[in-house]
Amino acid sequence: MSEEPTSNDNCSPVREYSAAEALVNNIPYIAMTVLGAAIFAVTFGGSMWGPVTAAAYLAYGAAGALWIMVFVCPYCRYWNSAECPCGYGLIAARFRPKAKVDCFDEKFKKHIPVIVPLWILPILVGLPDVIRNFSWPFLALLVLFAIDAFAILPLVSTKHGCKECPQKESCPWIIIKTKVAG
Ligand code: SF4
Repeated sequence: MSEEPTSNDNCSPVREYSAAEALVNNIPYIAMTVLGAAIFAVTFGGSMWGPVTAAAYLAYGAAGALWIMVFVCPYCRYWNSAECPCGYGLIAARFRPKAKVDCFDEKFKKHIPVIVPLWILPILVGLPDVIRNFSWPFLALLVLFAIDAFAILPLVSTKHGCKECPQKESCPWIIIKTKVAG
């Protein structure tokens, strides 16, 4: 991590993130995939589908992150830069060369639906199960997942990582969150 901030296109200072900070910024996403996998494991527990669906969800979480690195990050100003708050930009540079930054908005809109089911599937399978076979620990697991996925993760993105992003004016994620926040 450099001590002196660099500048974006508007000449305003841009923060660079150390590897440790990038790792911390990934914790909410990692927590969501682990909690989501636990929901599948409990819902289908007692059969082979428990570990199978939990492993599949974990693999989907990892593949979703990789998908963003390959299909979105090359169009980002933070590609191959420590200015990317979660480190994806540096990893993305190992897969693909830099692409047109002007296409970022279009690529984001096109590819973000690929990972949206990660937020929805654990609720879809877990909610009916907790209604049918109520237990406090499983309800607590569902609530923890919902808090992390729908509150902590977006909050960390919009109030921390994305706060300093030069693309935030055109980013669909920020626009959605701003509308939701009123
Ligand atoms: S800021 Fe977002 S889109 Fe840009 S390189 Fe990092 S993860 Fe990719």
